[in-house]
Amino acid sequence: MRRRGGSVGIRGGLGLVVIVAAVCVAQQVGSRQSAEGRIRSDVMFLASDKLEGRRTGTEGANEAAVYIATEFKRLGLKPGGVVGRITHGNERLMTAAYMQQFPFVSGVELGKGCEMFIGPGIPAEEIARLAVATMDGSSRDVMIKAMRAKSMELRAGDDWLPLGFSSNGLIEFQDAVFVGYGITAADLKHDDYEKADVKGKVAVAIEGTPDSENPHSEFARFADVRWKAIAARDRGATALVVIAREGNFKDDPLSRLRYDNSSGEAGIITVAISRQAAGRLFTKGGLAPLDDIQKALMVPAPTSQPGSVTNQEARTDKAPAILQKRASAPLNNVTLTIGTNVVRKNSPSANVIGILEGSDANLKSEVVVIGAHYDHLGRGGEGSLASREGDIHHGADDNASGVAGLLELARIFSSERSTHKRSIVFVAFSGEEEGLIGSNYYVNQPTFPLEKTVAMINMDMIGRMRDRKLTIGGVGTATEWKDYIQTANEASGPGGPTRHAGIGKADGVKPGFVLALNEDGYGPSDHSSFYAKKVPVLFFFTGSHEDYHKPSDTADKIAYADESRIVLMIANIVQTICDATTRPTYKLARSESAGRSAGFRVYLGTIPNYADSTNGLTLDGVREDSPAAKAGLKAGDRIVKLAGREVKNVYDYTYALGEMKANVEYDVELVRGNETLKLKITPAARK
Ligand SMILES: [Zn+2]
Repeated sequence: MRRRGGSVGIRGGLGLVVIVAAVCVAQQVGSRQSAEGRIRSDVMFLASDKLEGRRTGTEGANEAAVYIATEFKRLGLKPGGVVGRITHGNERLMTAAYMQQFPFVSGVELGKGCEMFIGPGIPAEEIARLAVATMDGSSRDVMIKAMRAKSMELRAGDDWLPLGFSSNGLIEFQDAVFVGYGITAADLKHDDYEKADVKGKVAVAIEGTPDSENPHSEFARFADVRWKAIAARDRGATALVVIAREGNFKDDPLSRLRYDNSSGEAGIITVAISRQAAGRLFTKGGLAPLDDIQKALMVPAPTSQPGSVTNQEARTDKAPAILQKRASAPLNNVTLTIGTNVVRKNSPSANVIGILEGSDANLKSEVVVIGAHYDHLGRGGEGSLASREGDIHHGADDNASGVAGLLELARIFSSERSTHKRSIVFVAFSGEEEGLIGSNYYVNQPTFPLEKTVAMINMDMIGRMRDRKLTIGGVGTATEWKDYIQTANEASGPGGPTRHAGIGKADGVKPGFVLALNEDGYGPSDHSSFYAKKVPVLFFFTGSHEDYHKPSDTADKIAYADESRIVLMIANIVQTICDATTRPTYKLARSESAGRSAGFRVYLGTIPNYADSTNGLTLDGVREDSPAAKAGLKAGDRIVKLAGREVKNVYDYTYALGEMKANVEYDVELVRGNETLKLKITPAARK
């Protein structure tokens, strides 16, 4: 499961339909125990120290891939990868055909030649001299040296840093233009470049949006620095300099060199600079102080004074002279020199794919994809909720549990392969935690055409069932889903009907679950990649918990008996899909996501329970050493009031969070058991 937007993001979970099914006490029986035992041994291996948390691109992840492929091969599944290239050792060669390799960058670092100078303006005659083709290399070098002597050097890491997606290159002594927030948004009739000529120059923009404080900002979707880089590149700028939002550069997310595999390189030099360095640049360039300019560009809060001046008027009214008519202004008498060299470490990774052909001559050309991601967070870092880096994140629930389910389903269907009419493609994805990279690669290079892919079934975190509660996402993506789920949930039981011969027969155990159904086909896991391509999806999930994305997500905490029952229910559903005369009917599901949580400046370290957020926001846990932990919040608490706002659901909570400021104390009111408690919480700046 991928963490979204820090500890708090919005994902599906609202408007759940809860169906309470009859629950019987589970009895242990022979075949059940063995399924349970197999799932246990898969989880124990995948979550062991040996695999070091299976971070995409690492040896541990590759070893997990080989383990999965070896099992596929033993079960007689056909290889579904393109000829694999994970080599070394016979075992690896033998399983190579199951590997669908995709490019992956596992890390970035600064290479040689990273430098940034604020230089003097270049007199016209110097420019003429520079342009003289006959000027030999040595006299050019002398001149550049002299210019550099007059420049102010910025220190990489302290004053500036290239962004992970920056192009590499060197620009010397170029003019610069301040372009406000660097946002071009035609539908909002907003263009910071309208009056700016940045062709062949450096664009300088502020991080965020003119109303960064507003979580419902219409600008929010343009806040991403990637969009700003695209806007600058489109206008012919040679580089984009983004001014950090946080006063202390090291607190700003842009001050950390990261690479996002889901989006690649920007095609333009892009760097972040500290507010202090920007201040010096503005002073030398003849602009008003940065804070004043930023204040002038701010969009007044939408609720402040209804019916008063429009944004435009308000802005002009208070703006320093230089910004009276426009959000942009050239920086006079200064130049910028920027050299970037971001070195990317390529560590190809792979999805593991095995195929079981269907039995029906016509229907076997159609496939059901069953998926689970096998990668996790390695030793922490990006995505981790642990208080420090370095410890192995075992990822037993996330998502060794899903992979064990995948392997058990492969065992069930391969032992009775004649009984499913449509074909089944088993895929263990990698790169999920890094941004659904593996599943995104698969849907663009599918083993079977997506038109023939009738459904995708995803398992991500199915090992921590509590109170027999099972969350199923994507139920709104096909008209048949609710029926299929209902039937599968009731299918097996003492003396009850067994819908499918051989499968779903629970040997006297009724697997009726308490279902929490969620319509949305989007969510923080691999099924999103398929739903985005209009494939009906189902997503199985037993809920978040305190060990989520921490080293303590270990194999001993998995509810193996419950998981084996979940797997049987999924087998029932897959069987139904495979044998139905018609394929599931795709439908556009009601979206339960309020969009991204971008724009938050603060974090609390809460892990909200998205499946259960009515009449307050229940917490699955709190991050160690976080503001929430320090405030005394605990797993199971239901927040009903935050920072003076009523919290009825995750949206209210998100809204309240959007209004909070770092290092300011707020009231938080919560219900714990029968008690109502009032605590104080002080948010930290988001990193
Ligand atoms: Zn995860």
